Amino acid sequence: MNDELELSRAFVVELEDIYEKLQQEYEQVAEELDFSCSGCPDNCCDSYFLHHTYAEWAYLWIGVKQLDTAARGRLIERAKKYLSRCEKALAAGERPQVMCPLNEGGLCTLYRYRLLVCRTHGVPAVLKRPDGKRLNFPGCFRCQEIVEARADKGSGAVNRTPMLVRLARLENELLGNKRDSYPRVKMTIAQMLVQGPPTLGRPHCDKRS
Ligand code: SF4
Ligand code: SF4
Repeated sequence: MNDELELSRAFVVELEDIYEKLQQEYEQVAEELDFSCSGCPDNCCDSYFLHHTYAEWAYLWIGVKQLDTAARGRLIERAKKYLSRCEKALAAGERPQVMCPLNEGGLCTLYRYRLLVCRTHGVPAVLKRPDGKRLNFPGCFRCQEIVEARADKGSGAVNRTPMLVRLARLENELLGNKRDSYPRVKMTIAQMLVQGPPTLGRPHCDKRS
């Protein structure tokens, strides 16, 4: 059994609310630091990001399905090229730096459906892991320069913990409260595009040999 995993309206509402709350926190910290991406010579859409939830994968595909057949075909072709370039870089022991297949002319073509990492990169952030360890993210190189130049070294940071706890809860519910029984997601956006929408087989614990 390999049924497509689709988000019900309630899951979409919850995920969009998580994104919105993160966005609000992001904007608050960005405003405090007088930081924006405007005029940046870089474009973070070529960063090698991996994504970790079926929920976001399914949400991305809500956007992909709104593209017409030709646009979707072009997107999948770009995603395949992206993967081939990443494979070469990884085989050479390098971290890939390839423009995301969703980026056209510097802009995200599925902006509304972009993933959490795309929404959080930039300003400083903190995260408390379930084991209690606190992780600090200093923000992008440009934001770090701004923080460094400030007399107070910028005290603000987005607290990602509550939103990631909500996302983990949503993911678990989406997987029938059997999150640990399914294969972990660790994929680039290009892999999510080439593989198609997420599907679920039986959880590991239900499989018979
Ligand atoms: S997040 Fe930072 S490095 Fe990336 S585009 Fe914005 S300003 Fe530039
Ligand atoms: S999904 Fe959009 S915002 Fe995220 S890396 Fe791709 S083009 Fe950039």
